[in-house]
Amino acid sequence: MNNVIALKSYAADRWLAEGEGAELVSAIDGATVALMPGVADVREMIDHARRVGGPALRAMTFRQRGEMLKAAAAAISERKAELYALSSFTGATKGDSAFDIEGGIGTFFVYASKAKTLPDAHFMLEGGRETLSKGDFLGQHVLAPLIGVAVHINAYNFPVWGMLEKLAPTLLAGMPAIIKPATFGSYLTEAAFRIMIESGALPTGSVQLLLGDTSDLLDLLDGQDSVAFTGSAATANRLKTHPNIVKNTVRFAAEQDSLNASILGMDAGPGTPEFDLYVKEVAREMTQKAGQKCTAIRRALVPTSMLDSVQNALISRLGNATIGDPRDETTRLGALAGIPQRADVIANLGKLTAEAEVVFGGEVPELHGNLAKGAFFEPTLLRCENPDAAEAVHSIEAFGPVCTLMPYRDADDAIMLAKKGKGSLALSIFSHDRGVTVDLVKGVSTFHGRVMIVDRDNAEHSTGHGAAMPHLQHGGPGRAGGGAELGGTIGMLPYMQRSAIQGSEALISAVAES
Ligand code: NAP
Repeated sequence: MNNVIALKSYAADRWLAEGEGAELVSAIDGATVALMPGVADVREMIDHARRVGGPALRAMTFRQRGEMLKAAAAAISERKAELYALSSFTGATKGDSAFDIEGGIGTFFVYASKAKTLPDAHFMLEGGRETLSKGDFLGQHVLAPLIGVAVHINAYNFPVWGMLEKLAPTLLAGMPAIIKPATFGSYLTEAAFRIMIESGALPTGSVQLLLGDTSDLLDLLDGQDSVAFTGSAATANRLKTHPNIVKNTVRFAAEQDSLNASILGMDAGPGTPEFDLYVKEVAREMTQKAGQKCTAIRRALVPTSMLDSVQNALISRLGNATIGDPRDETTRLGALAGIPQRADVIANLGKLTAEAEVVFGGEVPELHGNLAKGAFFEPTLLRCENPDAAEAVHSIEAFGPVCTLMPYRDADDAIMLAKKGKGSLALSIFSHDRGVTVDLVKGVSTFHGRVMIVDRDNAEHSTGHGAAMPHLQHGGPGRAGGGAELGGTIGMLPYMQRSAIQGSEALISAVAES
């Protein structure tokens, strides 16, 4: 790349002067892609969101905000080629980039259409009228946007989707946002953000971009503000216990580490469609986005008798996953986001090997020329013989193309192992036995934000284990952080306050329609 991009934060409706910040390098070959800017004035940003962005959004009805999302999504879609060009520097293949870019645009469009199911008014109703006494005195729960600012802190793995999936429910709810992308790959987030600003689709002050240092941002928030975080559990724990967040009861939602599992049913032996579908899905989850998906399958649970067959089938599939320059159409496995991220994967892999054996991959591939400076890593399959007694394979997330194969004895054992993840974003089941499937779902649902069931009849239309759908909740309990993003109107709740309105029917109707 010849032109190094001088990144800028966007605060109070102006692009700040570029600074002499850190260099961001290409995941493919280490060449400099962009320079980070200097520190922004977060006090001014918060003030602008509260004074200008919030009132502008709250003046609009849900339906009008839906139209706004549609216009912004259309603008990004029109210029998405610019994003694809930058996305490859993050190590992403064209397919990986589509997952990020089209996924983000699609999320905006889905929220735009959800707006049509909401009132052309300013309160969202929850449930119906509650009869409180014999006379004309009723109750109604209503939801209204918080009057502060939503702070979005994102992880590096989805520079576009990560921004848009948080922004869609926030803007539809009627709250302005300050977006703080992860530093790695933030040139791609900045490009998508810039398109939205240049489109003029969003009202002044409704979105601002904070690159790099967040300074004393968290010190300045109060109970009408909201923080949505995606990243590691270690950072989440640090930020959610920040004294000001605790003192002012600032809403804090986290999407953090997740040891997602996929279960192959007892009925799905070699030769069945479910067996083949399972192997294909696990291999895809390992290689798509180089395994850097919070929802990726980390633990593949298979009946003991099928352990060898699944291992062999997976190895044969992974052997065909060409590693290399993500811009090359034949590449199936691109690079990790950077050399530090690869070092993390290698370190975590080291911890997993105390309990599991590497049966495929596990090394930095030998690539030539400039690619030797890239952040590539082989797809890596581990096998854990005794997962009941193991701990690391259920708790350490190697955030790359890494998955551990483990045997289970019966449905109860599979449920117990799935739950050893202590709460995950997603679990999938591949089985054609309805009774077994229902028992598994009953056993695991409280530990998983989303459960996907695949069989020969629905596979063609399946949206995939790792794809967070805008219509469905994205978030999981416990280790996964306890957050709940997306899910249509569910995703708007972190940005709205519920209030129970009591009064006569006529008064409640007047409020509801205002
Ligand atoms: P991270 O180091 O925890 O960083 C996440 C975000 O927090 C980044 O934007 C980071 O900014 C920011 N941050 C760090 N310290 C901060 C502070 N003191 N104040 C404000 N912001 C701060 O995680 P990451 O390395 O980006 O992501 C990798 C990890 O996230 C993976 O290991 C994976 O487990 C997890 N992850 C989870 C999900 C999920 O939905 N469950 C999704 C993706 C990733 P900088 O980049 O500028 O440091």
